[in-house]
Amino acid sequence: LATNLERAQQYLERFKNNTTGHYINGEFTLGNGGREYDNLTPTDNSCIGKVMAASVADMDAACEAAENAFEAWSNTPGAERKKMLHKFADRLVERADEIAMVESMDCGQPIRFMKQAALRGAANFRFFADKVPEAQNGLALHQDEHTNYTIRNAIGPVGIITPWNTPFMLSTWKIAPALAAGCTVVHKPAELTPLSAYILAEIADEVLPKGVWNMVNGFGEDAGKRLTEHPAIKAVALVGESATGSHIMRQGADTLKRMHFELGGKNPVIVFDDADFERSLDAVVFMIYSLNGQRCTSSSRLLIQSGIRDKFIAALEQRVRNLRVGHSLDPETEVGPLVATEHFNKVLSYFDIAKKDGANIAVGGKRITDAKPELNPKGNYVEPTLFTDANNQMRIAQEEIFGPVLTAITFTTEEEAVQIANDTQYGLSGYIWTENTGRAMRMAKHVEAGMLWVNSENNRNLPSPFGGTKMSGIGRDGGDWSFDFYMETKNVCIAH
Ligand code: NAD
Repeated sequence: LATNLERAQQYLERFKNNTTGHYINGEFTLGNGGREYDNLTPTDNSCIGKVMAASVADMDAACEAAENAFEAWSNTPGAERKKMLHKFADRLVERADEIAMVESMDCGQPIRFMKQAALRGAANFRFFADKVPEAQNGLALHQDEHTNYTIRNAIGPVGIITPWNTPFMLSTWKIAPALAAGCTVVHKPAELTPLSAYILAEIADEVLPKGVWNMVNGFGEDAGKRLTEHPAIKAVALVGESATGSHIMRQGADTLKRMHFELGGKNPVIVFDDADFERSLDAVVFMIYSLNGQRCTSSSRLLIQSGIRDKFIAALEQRVRNLRVGHSLDPETEVGPLVATEHFNKVLSYFDIAKKDGANIAVGGKRITDAKPELNPKGNYVEPTLFTDANNQMRIAQEEIFGPVLTAITFTTEEEAVQIANDTQYGLSGYIWTENTGRAMRMAKHVEAGMLWVNSENNRNLPSPFGGTKMSGIGRDGGDWSFDFYMETKNVCIAH
């Protein structure tokens, strides 16, 4: 921990000494008319630097820059754009250590997970870079009198709005395909976690023509809102809360923007009596307690079949008790501090809600202030928590808590499992554990979710579609789905 702290301090020094601003039209700038705010680290709530929140005029400048750069960028030969995106990936790899350290201090995610993030970000850029030359290709349909063929062109400048939970990773998933498609970008990172977005902008400055990538720090209600209303912006990709998706849909209505939303979830992991006990136990623990439970696809509801319920819950309690909570830079840490005080208090509030609703707090249920000397009592540390004896009507089963908190519910039949799984406003992901293939396939058909994993924890396969149903989102990205979003399909009909 001491070595990591020292290295992180070196990387953070410049953020501490200079206000973090924006990157607009190839210039790093503090903009005009914005307001400064303190960026706090969740490890102890100290200030790790000032950030400039953009004014509406700053956002306008970024959107205009993206508009002006669009024609040249979208017409740059595919081979050249491919080369630039690979160069971007190379720089991510070179700065991987810095990205991991800075991100970990900014958002509280344990360094053990952030270490891979920069490398995965680089892989995202390479995956979409390789697709650039073919992205415009469409279908050809030959008929007796006509031939129809389709081509795809970049939709235009796009707005990308990202959240604080894994800011770096989520940004690369959105921005890499947008640039590969030929779009120019205005990125608005989450106000709570601006630092890795600034590093991305620095790499963009080295690698891309000016105006292609713009990054504007600021709040949702003014800078973010303006981005979604600006007439030059043709599509908006948001990763955030469901309520934010509704706001943005309204804000973008007048300019008829195309929208892609990746929103909240209350995802079930359904464990049947015949599941592989150890593997399913590992997956249940990993999918809610890793990344501090601040993960959209986390399995925050455990649906456990009655036959193995007691044995499974006993083993689970043991595992949850043994999780190592600690400073986000400690390599031993499995659960770090939660991103910010407001969110931390929201998570803590569910302990009383659970009691009031009649659930049992089997493990955890408290803030940690003094359990370990290396945990600063001012940090946002919470005990990994397990609620048992819950039912699906309780608020702890219906609301997205977005922390290291799992709600366990017992079921008896397959039909009941489906009914409970679907009894939620969300439909992002689900996890099914059974050795019975027929049952796995029936469940996969009936559970309402954009993504299901059978006998597997979440792994993101870049060519596969990613996205949610119901209040969890609209649209898909990944592989060619990303190009469908960031490009317009044009049909050309030729008479013979
Ligand atoms: P949030 O919705 O509060 O903020 C997300 C982003 O939207 C921020 O950059 C914010 O400034 C911006 N924003 C807020 N209001 C806006 C407005 N009116 N106009 C324009 N922009 C606006 O979300 P958060 O609290 O940062 O992140 C946590 C949420 O994100 C959780 O609900 C989580 O499930 C969700 N999430 C979903 C996925 C997914 O893939 N489905 C992935 C990660 C996180």
